[in-house]
Parts: sequence; structure tokens; C-alpha cells
Amino acid sequence: MVNDCIFCQIVAGDIPSKTVYEDDTVFAFLDVNPLAPGHTLVIPKDHHETLADVPEDTASDLFSALHRLTPVVEDAVDADASNVAFNNGEAAGQEVSHVHAHIIPRFDGDGGNPIHAIAGNTPDLSDEELDEIASDIADAR
Ligand code: 5GP
Ligand code: ZN
Repeated sequence: MVNDCIFCQIVAGDIPSKTVYEDDTVFAFLDVNPLAPGHTLVIPKDHHETLADVPEDTASDLFSALHRLTPVVEDAVDADASNVAFNNGEAAGQEVSHVHAHIIPRFDGDGGNPIHAIAGNTPDLSDEELDEIASDIADAR
């Protein structure tokens, strides 16, 4: 546990939360400033800052919980869909440095945007540049 981490304190029960799910490794609770009814945060209980810091077995547990919770959250608020996303690192807008997935229920005509609206200036990449990026990723994987 990291003492000055809000989410570690929530997991420990030192800060109250509207808990919706808990198992040995994963914890989920309602966002205190919801972007939609049912906006839920799903976190590993152990403190890790970004996705790359999460051990693989915990990452699997996290995804399993997301997989099970997402339809349940949608049903609970009668949503039509959801965005499921991580702000993964400060430059991507992560404010709480304990990795967390957002489940944000979406409704027909809610005025929101798809995940494509997140990025800033979009690049104009040539086919060669795309090939180079793809092979850099494939080779390092
Ligand atoms: P981030 O920008 O880091 O991806 O999102 C952090 C989220 O945590 C925000 O949506 C914010 O509303 C939520 N949050 C911050 N502090 C608390 C808290 O004390 N309790 C709960 N339930 N949510 C919090
Ligand atoms: Zn933490």
C-alpha cells in the first residue's frame, strides 16, 4: 500500500467508496465524479502506476473483472453501450497514479464522443512509416 495514494486508501477501507466488486486482487467502485450514471473504476488492489507495471497474472485478473463487470454495469443503469478505457500515464490524462480502468456507460443520444475524440493532433503517416512502426512493435513484443 502506498500511504498517500487515494485508491490504496479506498482498498484499505480508510476512505469510503461505493464498492461494487471485490476479489483477492481486484477492487471496483463508483467514480466520485461520474461522467455518466454507473461510471465505475476497476483497479488492482496492489499499487501499480501504469498498465506496464502490472504483473501479468494481475493483469489477467483485472481484465476478467472488467469482462464480467462491464455488462453488469450497463444493465444496472440501462445503458446502450459503454466506453472502457485507461488513462495510461500522466501525458494521457491519468491523474490518480494507481492504474484504473474506467467503465463509462453510454446512452443513445447522450452527446458524448467515441474514443477517437481523445487524441490531439492526428498524424499523417505514410505506408512506410506505418510498416516501420508495426515492425518495431512486433519485434519488441
Ligand atoms: P484519471 O484521470 O486518473 O484516469 O481518473 C481518476 C478518476 O478517479 C476520476 O474520474 C475521479 O473522479 C476519480 N476519483 C478521484 N478521487 C476519488 C475518490 O476519492 N473516490 C472515488 N470514488 N473516485 C475518485
Ligand atoms: Zn495505490
